Parts: sequence; C-alpha cells; structure tokens
Amino acid sequence: MKPKERMAIPRQKAKELAVANRITNFDEVTSGFDEETAIKEANRCLQCKKPVCRDGCPIHNNIPKFIELLREKKFEEAYWTIRETSSLPAVCSRVCPHEFQCEGSCIRGKKGDPVAIGMLERYLVDWMVDHNKDISRECALPNNKKVAFVGSGPASMTAAFHLAHDGYTCTIFESLPAFGGMLTVGIPAYRLPRDIINAEFDALKSCGVEVINNKTIGKDKTLEDLKNEGFEAVFIGIGAHASRKLGVEGEDLDGVLHGVDYLRRVNLGEDMDLGPNVVVVGGGNVAIDCARTALRMGSDKVFILYRRTIEEMPAAAAEIHHLEEEGVKIEFLAAPVKIHGENGKLTKIECIRMELGECDASGRCRPVPVEGSNFMIEADAIIPAISQDVEHIADKGTTFDLTRWNTFDVDEVTLQTSVPWVFAGGDAVLGPQTAAKAVYQGKVAAESIRRYLEGEDLRAGREPKEEEETE
Ligand SMILES: Cc1cc2nc3c(=O)[nH]c(=O)nc-3n(C[C@H](O)[C@H](O)[C@H](O)COP(=O)(O)OP(=O)(O)OC[C@H]3O[C@@H](n4cnc5c(N)ncnc54)[C@H](O)[C@@H]3O)c2cc1C
Repeated sequence: MKPKERMAIPRQKAKELAVANRITNFDEVTSGFDEETAIKEANRCLQCKKPVCRDGCPIHNNIPKFIELLREKKFEEAYWTIRETSSLPAVCSRVCPHEFQCEGSCIRGKKGDPVAIGMLERYLVDWMVDHNKDISRECALPNNKKVAFVGSGPASMTAAFHLAHDGYTCTIFESLPAFGGMLTVGIPAYRLPRDIINAEFDALKSCGVEVINNKTIGKDKTLEDLKNEGFEAVFIGIGAHASRKLGVEGEDLDGVLHGVDYLRRVNLGEDMDLGPNVVVVGGGNVAIDCARTALRMGSDKVFILYRRTIEEMPAAAAEIHHLEEEGVKIEFLAAPVKIHGENGKLTKIECIRMELGECDASGRCRPVPVEGSNFMIEADAIIPAISQDVEHIADKGTTFDLTRWNTFDVDEVTLQTSVPWVFAGGDAVLGPQTAAKAVYQGKVAAESIRRYLEGEDLRAGREPKEEEETE
C-alpha cells in the first residue's frame, strides 16, 4: 500500500455500549476491534523510520513491529513482540492514557488522528484469549534465593514476574483481600474487566509467585522480620493510597467519602448507596471514575466540581466524553469552601466561583477565588478526588529517605532506596501516575535486585530514564 493510500484511511472507531445499557451495571463500555477493523487501522501506520511512538510509550513497546506483524495477520508473533517489553499488555491496552503517551507522539496525529495503537494492542491480547493461547513463559530452575514484595500492584507484579522467571523465589505481601493494587481496587470494572486482570496476573504468577493477602508490612510483619525469614531483598510497590484532603471545614461529616477510599469499598464489593445527589470534586481520572461509579451504584444526580476549565482537565478525553454521555455535568471554575451538616451528616456544600489567574511556564493557570461569589449546593454525599499521597509503611525499625513529595527517594537508575537491600517503584516513587510507568519501574527494579543478589554492579551500562515526579 502506498503512503498516500494509508493516509486516506480514517481512524477506525470501536463500538461502545449504548448509555442506557451501561449506567446500571459495570459491563465493559468499549468493545475491541474485529479482525477487519484492526487490519484497516494497522494499515494507517506509516512505519516511520524514527518511531517516535516508541519514545512516547513508557515501556518502549516495539509499536511499528507489532503493527506490521498484525497487518500480516501474524497475530501471535505480534502479541509476543509486545510481551518482549510489557508484562501487562491486556491492562495497558485498555487503560493507558494513550493520547498522552504513544498516540500523543504518533506522527499521524500532527495532521489528523493518530493510529489507534491502544486498540491494536488490545486486539492482539483479545485474540490470544479467544484462541486459548498460553501466555505464560518458561521458568528458570529455582536458585533458592528469596525476594519479598510489598503490595500487589503492577509494579510489584512485574518485578516479581521477571525475578520468578529468573529462578528467584518471590513472595508478595498485600494488605487487602484482593490483589492487583489500583487496577483492582481503583479502576472500575467497566473500564478494566476483572477477568482480564486475573488472566494476565495468573500468567505473571506462573513461575510460582506467591501472593499472601491480608498482610500489611509494618503492622503484621516488619521489614526486619522479612530479613530474618531469609528474604535477601525487598521491593516496595505500595502505591499512593492516601486520599488527599480538601482541607475545608466539615470534611469529617458523615456523607464525605474520599475518592480512592470510596472506589476501594465499591470494588471490594460493598453496596455503597450514597443517596440521589452526589458531588465529586476534582478533574482527573479518579474523579471521573468516582462520578461514573456513583451513577452505576444508583445515584441519579451526580456532578463534578472542577476549579479550572475543561482545557486544564488532566483526565483523558475519552473519559470526559463518556462521563458527559452518561449525564454527569461538570461545574467548571468552582470549588468547595465549607461542608455544612446537621446532626453530624452533610446537608449542603458551600462553593465559590474561581477565575484563572497567573499561568506557570507550562501554561497551567492558577485558579483564584472570586470574592463574594459563594453559593450553596444541596447534596447527600461529596467525594473529594483531588489526588493521592503515599501512605508509608508504619515500620519503626527501618526508616527511608523521602523526597519533598513524601515519595521514596530512590537512585534514579537502580531504584535502590536509602536502605541498600530495599528497592521501590511505581506510584510509591513517582506519586500517582500510570500503570505503564509502574510496569516499567517494576522491570527496572527486577534487574537491579538480580544484580544486587548476584553481587554485580547495579549501575553498569544503565542510563537514568527521565521521569516527572508529581505533587
Ligand atoms: C481510580 C483510579 C483510576 C486510574 N486510572 C488509570 C488509568 O486509566 N490508566 C492508568 O495507566 N493508570 C490509572 N490509574 C493509576 C494506576 O492504577 C497506578 O498508577 C498503578 O496502579 C500504580 O501501581 P503500583 O504498583 O505502584 O501501586 P498500586 O497499584 O497502588 O498497588 C499498591 C498495592 O500495595 C498495597 N499496600 C500498600 N501498603 C502496603 C503494606 N504496608 N503492606 C502490604 N501491602 C500494601 C496496596 O493495598 C495496593 O494493593 C488509576 C488510579 C486510580 C486510583
């Protein structure tokens, strides 16, 4: 096919559940491509000599190669090309914010729509499932060296996967009754079906990774206990699970539920009826997930308060589109200043209008309250979902150097903490970020732990990867 013909193909669209069929359940909203659509979309790829899409992917998947194999209908080979770099393609293909990563860098996006890289990856993952293909990999013989992992999110799962395949005995300690971290207790099932996570994680565990649930390191066991039990290295992948507070009066009233706490309870099976009127505060994916979850849990009037405008919203465009389709309104340039209640229960939220003030170097402008513009909203519940912080291991025996964002201060190349036998990665290091970044750091940490246990130089031949830390 000539480049001109490729350029003429429009971006293919995935089918979606009709609004009426999705807002009362947690069924997956977006369907995958069929074969014909996937090949048509793959034909849009220009196979650039300098594939900038690869630079945009936090895991550096070989995107042009898997797309080329896909369009030759070598689906299994294409899948394994992705698995060379990614441990969690089923998860990443569904939830990565592609528009800010691989698709955001795709050259076709400069004049029109980028190639739908995420949907093509998803096609291959789903093809392997539909054809009952084994996605586990060969395991090395056990070497009797033990490594412990704290938390069972994508960072730990990836690190454990690589080390277990190299013959290390890997045990993951998880404080919750479910494994998967924010993939399971944060992201709702209508975006990431649980059978998808389970199948992918089963493959990661296939070399004997053991997950022990309901064990909080720092409380049920200390890091020193792990050392005494023969674990020679530890990886900390505890994520960022402490909801950031609004810091306004009335935040302790009944009816105030913070974003990730609310989602965790719903995802662990609690029947959370918040009443008909729910207000969510925030502009990121977590806020949108809270609003769409509240709708599915039975609230009829859900809206979002965001202190900036739609241009500054950090959430993915597709998520904002789905939210609005489902009838959730966003009140822009408004923020809560006080939560009012009666008999310990929330009744009204006092808000103030905002306007955008000075902008920083990146062009992001500071919201400034408009004096005297206060107004009231009646509500049954408010869900502040403005960000998350790391909830550190309450282990008095071992202390770590931390950054000014209260994340683990690690060596940028090796992810080694200030305690030499302990490594850390994912949101615990980066602040709330993405699944793909956690996967990447899990892989980096696995290589460091392997070198540490084999007495090799941790840094030799490795370059730091530029990562932005978030507040
Ligand atoms: C609502 C929501 C939506 C999101 N949407 C997206 C999205 O669309 N796309 C995307 O790429 N990313 C998304 N993310 C972010 C993504 O889920 C995280 O970046 C990623 O899961 C971080 O992985 P992690 O392994 O570092 O930590 P986590 O996934 O947070 O896992 C940490 C685990 O450690 C456990 N733990 C904590 N402390 C202890 C302890 N002391 N002992 C034992 N266990 C402990 C926790 O219970 C948890 O299971 C979302 C996050 C949330 C909250």
